[in-house]
Amino acid sequence: MRTDKELEIYFHIPFCIRKCLYCDFLSGPADEDTRRAYLEALMRETVERASEAEGYTVRSVFLGGGTPSVADAGQIQELLELLRKHYRLAEDAEITMEVNPGTVDMEKLTIYHRAGINRLSIGLQSTEDSELAAIGRIHTYEEFLEAYRAARTVGFDNINVDLMGALPGQTAESYGRTLDRVLALNPEHISAYSLIVEENTPLWDMVSEGTVKPWEEDRERELYWLTHERLCEAGYVHYEISNYAKPGRECRHNMGYWTRVDYLGLGIGAASLMGQKRFQNDTDREAYIREPMNRRCHMEYLSTREQMEETMFLGLRLLRGVSEKDFEECFGEKLSHVYGKVIERNMDDGLLQKEQGYVFLTQKGIDISNYVMARFLL
Ligand code: SF4
Repeated sequence: MRTDKELEIYFHIPFCIRKCLYCDFLSGPADEDTRRAYLEALMRETVERASEAEGYTVRSVFLGGGTPSVADAGQIQELLELLRKHYRLAEDAEITMEVNPGTVDMEKLTIYHRAGINRLSIGLQSTEDSELAAIGRIHTYEEFLEAYRAARTVGFDNINVDLMGALPGQTAESYGRTLDRVLALNPEHISAYSLIVEENTPLWDMVSEGTVKPWEEDRERELYWLTHERLCEAGYVHYEISNYAKPGRECRHNMGYWTRVDYLGLGIGAASLMGQKRFQNDTDREAYIREPMNRRCHMEYLSTREQMEETMFLGLRLLRGVSEKDFEECFGEKLSHVYGKVIERNMDDGLLQKEQGYVFLTQKGIDISNYVMARFLL
């Protein structure tokens, strides 16, 4: 059966060399045998779930983690071969892999490239080694440069660099240096987030003990707008609250997520959205290795109301905003009928704007985006 339905696939590869001090993701160190066994289980799940993707064309694939580049490169290649064999993969599918400096070399990158990975997302965070050490990253700026240059040499022409603001010991000046150095490399995409101090992380304890002082919100917002100014000046399009791309290089996978394209998550903890159904695999790594199927939990059916709310929360993250036409096509109701009053109130407060069929956040709205989005709960 052939339809136009699009699907995105996410593979969760939960391994890292060492935990960063701020990280609460489902990831951690593991020995080689465990990593191999996990990848084998992931391949089994991939094959067995193929029937769920019937009628879909896969428009993007994302290998995330953790640090997928810690896994054996040959197994990554095998995984993608299985995906091609059992799923309908669009010819121009975007296939992204997250890599960290210090875990890749020319040989691995060559295998990824040959395997069809056509986009790399490299976790840099900062070009200041003292700032990298303060958050427990395993690599230096020099190691990032080696990985970046090797990726270019191998032929990767679509690279994202992850940056982070509000780090311990960082200043607006040092952050500006990081921006300048990264811009000089001319990556196709830059993600710039602020450090969040999550509970149950060593960084949380350091903040609680007073050994690390968190950034004040005003200063953090200054970094945000500094990023916006520098990157836009350099020709990047600010297309999502924390994401910038050269024109036409927006991350297709994440765009799909923000516009609620169906996605299938494979691996521990991976979430899926298939039509109205949302579900997740559980997080037990050992159980997954023994039996990767039957691990689904938190299955829920989203009501129309919940789907509308999600459309607004996610769509407003995009700077272009939510399309009135798409909303009506999706739900058979006009956006103004469902949210007319909320939109007007936010417009009166200078937080939202409406132009050419899109409703979007103003600069003031971006600064308090969580507050604006909460107003869209029906
Ligand atoms: S590399 Fe990423 S996933 Fe791994 S510990 Fe650091 S922040 Fe977490």
